[in-house]
Amino acid sequence: MNSEIVTVGTELLLGRIDNTNARFIADQLAQLGIESHFQTVVGDNEDRIVAVLNQAATRSDLIIICGGLGPTVDDMTLASVSKYLGLNLQVDETQFSQIKAHFNRQHRSMTPENVKQAQFLAGAKILPNDVGLALGDFVKTVKGPDIAVLPGPPSEMETMFINHLVPLLEETYPVQQHLISRVLRFYGISESMLMHQLNDVVISNTNPSIASYAKNHEILIRLTAQGKDDDQINQLLDITQTQILAKVDGYFYGTGSKNSLAKEVVMQLKQKGLTVTAAESLTGGLFQSTICSIAGASKVFDGGFVTYANQAKKDLLHINAQIIDDNGVVSKQTAIAMASQARKIMNTDIGISFTGVAGPDQLEGHPAGTVWIGLSFGDQQVKTQLEQYLQTDSRQSIREKSVLTGLQMILQ
Ligand code: ATP
Ligand code: MG
Repeated sequence: MNSEIVTVGTELLLGRIDNTNARFIADQLAQLGIESHFQTVVGDNEDRIVAVLNQAATRSDLIIICGGLGPTVDDMTLASVSKYLGLNLQVDETQFSQIKAHFNRQHRSMTPENVKQAQFLAGAKILPNDVGLALGDFVKTVKGPDIAVLPGPPSEMETMFINHLVPLLEETYPVQQHLISRVLRFYGISESMLMHQLNDVVISNTNPSIASYAKNHEILIRLTAQGKDDDQINQLLDITQTQILAKVDGYFYGTGSKNSLAKEVVMQLKQKGLTVTAAESLTGGLFQSTICSIAGASKVFDGGFVTYANQAKKDLLHINAQIIDDNGVVSKQTAIAMASQARKIMNTDIGISFTGVAGPDQLEGHPAGTVWIGLSFGDQQVKTQLEQYLQTDSRQSIREKSVLTGLQMILQ
C-alpha cells in the first residue's frame, strides 16, 4: 500500500508559495501508517494534470490530489480527474443552494462558474467542506488507484482531511502496524561526524529506521519504529536510543520535534530552582532574547546586560579596566570577569558571558568566529569555552552558534 501526493498550482511551480499542503498530507499519511512514495507538483493545466495522474497510477495505490477546486478558469483539477477516470461530473444540489445562499448573504452576485464548487465525481463519496465552498471527493476504483480530491486553501484542505477523509482512509486501509517517531536532538557535532560514529547502529537497525537531518545548527535524528502497540514500539525506540547515546552521549541534549536547547535550559533551571543572567558582547542580547522566547522564562531570568563596547563593560558590569587592558576583550579573563560580575550584580545562581568576534573584520588580531564564553556558578566556580567557528560563517550564524553553545554549557 503506497500513496502519492499531487499538489496542483502554477504558483507552487513558480516558487511563490510554500507547499505546506504536501507537508501536512505527508505527515498525516505517516500517522495513518500509509506509506507515501512520491510527491508531484503540477501546474494548472488539464493535459499535464491528466499525465501526472496516469503516471501516478502506474506506481501508487492511493492518489491524494489537492488544489484547483475553485470557480475560476485556472481551477481545472476536478475536470482533469473526471477526464482521467472517465467519470461524469454531477452537481450536488444541496451544496449549490448553500453556495447561492452564501452569495446572497454577502450581497455578491454569483458567476456561472461557481457551480463548479458544487460539482462532484459520479459515484464518489463527497467530502464536505466545513470552512469553504468547494466539495472534495473520494473515489474507490476497481482497477487503478483510489483518488482523494481536496481543495487548495490550507484551512479548507486540513479541515476536510481531518474531519472527512481520515475516517474514510482508516476504514478503507486498516492499519496493520502502528508507527511512532522519536526525535533525538544534538548540538555541537556535525551531521557527518555524528552519522559516522553511529554507522554500526544505523546498519544494525531497520526497526526503528534512523534518519538524520540538520536544522538551525542542530542535528536531529528521527527514529521511526513500527509494532503492534505503543508499548512494544516505545521499547524498540528505547533500545535504539540507548545504543545511540552510548556512542555520542556528549552532544545529546533532549528529545522531541518541538524541543530546543533554550527550552531544555529553562525547564531544567526551573526544576532545579536556579536563576540565570547574561553579559553579552558579540551576541548583543541574542542569548537573553532566546531565553525570553520560552514560556516560563520569568521563573529563571530577571534581566541581564548587553555590553557591546568596552566602556559599557566597565560602566555597567564594573569590570576592572586592567583585565581588558592586560588580556584583550576577546579573552578568557574578560569572559570570566563579565560572567561573574553579571552574576554578582543580578544576584543569580548562574552568570554567562559572550565576548568574541562576529566579523567580518578581525578584532585584536583574532579572526572572525573566535568566541570566549564564560560561565560563573557559585563564588569561585567558573567554566570557560573557546569556540573557533569558521571564518566563512556569517555574523548571524556566529552569534547564533555562540548562544547555542552557551545554552549547552549551562546544561552540562
Ligand atoms: P480557491 O477557491 O481559493 O481558488 P482552490 O481549491 O482552487 O481554491 P487553489 O486555487 O489551488 O485552490 O489555491 C488557493 C490558495 O490556496 C492558493 O492561492 C494558496 O494560497 C493556497 N494553496 C494552494 N495550494 C497550496 C499548497 N500546496 N500549499 C500551500 N498553500 C496552497
Ligand atoms: Mg483556485
